[in-house]
Amino acid sequence: MENVQKSGDVELEVPIPTRRSRPGEARSKPPTWKLGKVVGVVVETPETNTLQIEVPDPSPFLPGQYYNIRIPIEGRPRPIQRAYSVGSSPFPDYSVVDVGIRETPGGLVSPKLVRESFVGQELEVRGPYGAFTWTEENGGPVLLIGAGSGVVPLMAMIRYGVSKGLNVPMHLLFSSKSYEYVIYRDELERLSQENSWLSVSHTFTRSLGDPRARYHRRIDKEMISEVFHEVNSSVAYICGPPEMVEESEKVLIGLGMQSGSVKTEKYD
Ligand SMILES: Cc1cc2nc3c(=O)[nH]c(=O)nc-3n(C[C@H](O)[C@H](O)[C@H](O)COP(=O)(O)OP(=O)(O)OC[C@H]3O[C@@H](n4cnc5c(N)ncnc54)[C@H](O)[C@@H]3O)c2cc1C
Repeated sequence: MENVQKSGDVELEVPIPTRRSRPGEARSKPPTWKLGKVVGVVVETPETNTLQIEVPDPSPFLPGQYYNIRIPIEGRPRPIQRAYSVGSSPFPDYSVVDVGIRETPGGLVSPKLVRESFVGQELEVRGPYGAFTWTEENGGPVLLIGAGSGVVPLMAMIRYGVSKGLNVPMHLLFSSKSYEYVIYRDELERLSQENSWLSVSHTFTRSLGDPRARYHRRIDKEMISEVFHEVNSSVAYICGPPEMVEESEKVLIGLGMQSGSVKTEKYD
């Protein structure tokens, strides 16, 4: 996350790094807080909801970027903010952003967003942010590796490919606890049937033997090596818990990928 440092429970605002503008060049304005409106709530799994948020005066975003959301928390002097990736495609419409939120047990913000959000609710949002982005300019074949809610920005890339009619090969290696915890389960199945450029390998970590998954363990070196050689990827995007992201990145670089071709987003 670029603009928030977490220090225990305290949120410290730090400046958003921006490139210095050249003489005569218009400077892009940093995002400001806006009052978004929840226009849809989709229950994805027992612990994850998609909130569809209409953003007033929206800025274009790129597939893979995230928004910050802040909400008041009882006993806290200031609203508490967290980052949530956008799972929807910015094309053809970037005015409604779908954020996929998994409830972190004991967390301050995510349980409220998952359990208490409703259509018509107003939420403070600020964005977009982030350099974890893919468009056709980044090329392919693309290997997407995600665990749990780490699939959200990868889904934005897939949906973007679909809505723009791109044919860039993409393979998603996706780790979930079990079939019922697979976020975007039905849509991923449908899209991979309808688009020959898209394929998905599921791994289930707590549902050993379920034939709906190709693997039944955490993402590991052998698994990544197998899909990497099948896909022959030239770019890779990895998102999820920091340990999984770091390990997967090391494996891909060990397999010969250039470090600049492996992009990562850690949900810490
Ligand atoms: C760029 C980015 C994008 C992200 N995108 C997504 C996304 O698309 N979807 C998504 O679900 N998440 C995403 N995240 C993670 C998200 O921002 C939050 O970190 C997550 O929702 C947890 O926030 P929370 O307020 O619910 O939990 P927190 O309050 O931050 O708590 C997290 C955990 O720490 C424990 N904890 C808190 N305080 C203490 C303490 N004092 N002592 C011991 N334990 C403590 C809590 O019990 C909980 O288990 C993203 C993160 C980043 C950086």
